[in-house]
Amino acid sequence: MSGVYIISAPSGSGKSTLVDRVRQIVPSLKFSISYTTRAHRGDEQNGREYFFVSRAEFEEMIRKDEFLEYANVFGNYYGTARRFLREAEEEGKDLLLDIDVQGAAQIKAKIPDAVSIFVLPPNRQELEKRLRTRSLDAEEVIQRRLVTASREIEKYDKYDYILVNDRLEESIDALKSILLAERRKRSGAQAQGQRSADETNLMAKAERCRLSNVRERLQPILASFEKTAAPGGR
Ligand code: ADP
Ligand code: 5GP
Repeated sequence: MSGVYIISAPSGSGKSTLVDRVRQIVPSLKFSISYTTRAHRGDEQNGREYFFVSRAEFEEMIRKDEFLEYANVFGNYYGTARRFLREAEEEGKDLLLDIDVQGAAQIKAKIPDAVSIFVLPPNRQELEKRLRTRSLDAEEVIQRRLVTASREIEKYDKYDYILVNDRLEESIDALKSILLAERRKRSGAQAQGQRSADETNLMAKAERCRLSNVRERLQPILASFEKTAAPGGR
């Protein structure tokens, strides 16, 4: 049975950057390419970032029960096809899903063993800066994404791990550690006394991102977003 890893984040936090890098260094990881009804952005290619389909095609897939989960995000459908989990199992790989908080809840309900990771920016100001630096969205879209981010961030405590994406190289290392530590646990990790130094180090790095171990660090991050959610705030 494949391990399932869910990664969610407010748009602009750096999730795609992290996922792209981690896919290159963690072996036997299959990435689920979602279906979406949203338009192409930048140099995205059909079948690489997403399968771009019409609303009618997406709704036909819903009718045929082809989705493991799907949701409406920013007014468009996004969904994970069941076939990716089937293929991951046939290939003996773990499956990595880059999906939103609604999709994550659906997967957790269906696959309780799925491991969920929430990526956060260091604060709201930095998120806004990253959204602008990426320069893929119009100003109005950026503002909408910031408001949505404040709502999504409230769901952080539904996740197993929290990754504050401050320094990129450290975040890549932390994400790699979480995936590998969880994989080892699934395959019946060695008793603590028998672990190699590398393994102990890996487990410790992953453990530092456990929800219970980051609550205090999250307070100023969450506070920076509360202002956005407040009436009259941007
Ligand atoms: P997401 O997939 O979460 O929407 P992206 O991966 O597109 O976000 O990243 C948004 C922008 O932030 C990109 O320009 C990316 O290069 C930049 N970025 C990602 N991680 C970091 C980081 N740790 N520090 C600074 N900039 C980052
Ligand atoms: P974007 O349009 O920026 O690529 O993605 C917008 C949001 O949709 C992100 O939060 C992303 O994680 C989410 N998303 C992408 N694919 C899926 C999917 O298959 N299912 C769900 N529920 N969300 C998805």
